[in-house]
Amino acid sequence: MQCSKCGNPKVIIKKEQSGQLLCKDCFIESIERKVKRTIKKEKLLDRGDKVLVALSGGKDSVTVLEILNSYRERNIIDICAVTVDEGIDNYRQDGVDIAVRHAERLGIEHKVVSLKDEYGITLDEIMQTDNHKGSCTYCGVFRRTIINKAAREMNATKIATGHNLDDEVQAIMMNYLEGNTGNLTKLGAKTESKAEEFTVKIKPLREIPEREIGLYVVAKDLEVHFDSCPYAMQSFRGEVSEVINQLSQSHPTIKYSTLRGYDKVKNILKKELKKDYAHGRCARCGEPSSNELCKACSFLEELGV
Ligand code: SF4
Ligand code: ZN
Repeated sequence: MQCSKCGNPKVIIKKEQSGQLLCKDCFIESIERKVKRTIKKEKLLDRGDKVLVALSGGKDSVTVLEILNSYRERNIIDICAVTVDEGIDNYRQDGVDIAVRHAERLGIEHKVVSLKDEYGITLDEIMQTDNHKGSCTYCGVFRRTIINKAAREMNATKIATGHNLDDEVQAIMMNYLEGNTGNLTKLGAKTESKAEEFTVKIKPLREIPEREIGLYVVAKDLEVHFDSCPYAMQSFRGEVSEVINQLSQSHPTIKYSTLRGYDKVKNILKKELKKDYAHGRCARCGEPSSNELCKACSFLEELGV
């Protein structure tokens, strides 16, 4: 066995889709080239952008930070980062510590915001209440609100998240399966909202399979938080992920074809289904919202916080 590109006998991966064999250096180069191609093709960056990286300390966000930092080194963009501490015991603190170390290593502006400080309750405490709606429902909404707010406070022009190919395909399938057509219009490499208070979100890793990101951080010797969230398997996303991974074993290109298929119909969906939203403001917190209360505040009211 030897690297399909340079002939090096030390092969570290056989690519799922193409069957290509790659050594460590050629693999690292292939990932970085592919991410840069997505950035160019989807016009994710503009010269002079200040990109806020949503940095959890996990492999995906650390990879985004690492690759975007090469644009920063060439003075094309500036970078800052925010880490959300949801308050998940025996899990989150390690990720926060790793995020802090990466921000210090690169010398970038970074802030850590906890659910406890922001809303007075941790995710663990929410999960102890009766009739809660499931950990990920709260986690997603609160995290999104905190990240949007941080982007405004830090004057960021874009928010970069670590969503990888697996995440994006799971989101597409989940929304189809739940008949959640409104949410289907919001996926994609770059999501923009009409409300100017929402910063443009970009997903540079959208075409990289999760497994390859895991290998990339190991190959580059980057410190990352590898543990998974204790709530992850309770989620619908976890179940959908299992089915897609099972199908991928006998149909190795299925994740890419799902993504490509979605990209082809996305604009049609947008035209047909796009709702005008976020024209008003939340009566409780002032964040943009189409209802009297934004999602985060209506959860807080329900929780009696
Ligand atoms: Fe939050 Fe854990 Fe759910 Fe991820 S899996 S959204 S970290 S609760
Ligand atoms: Zn609100």
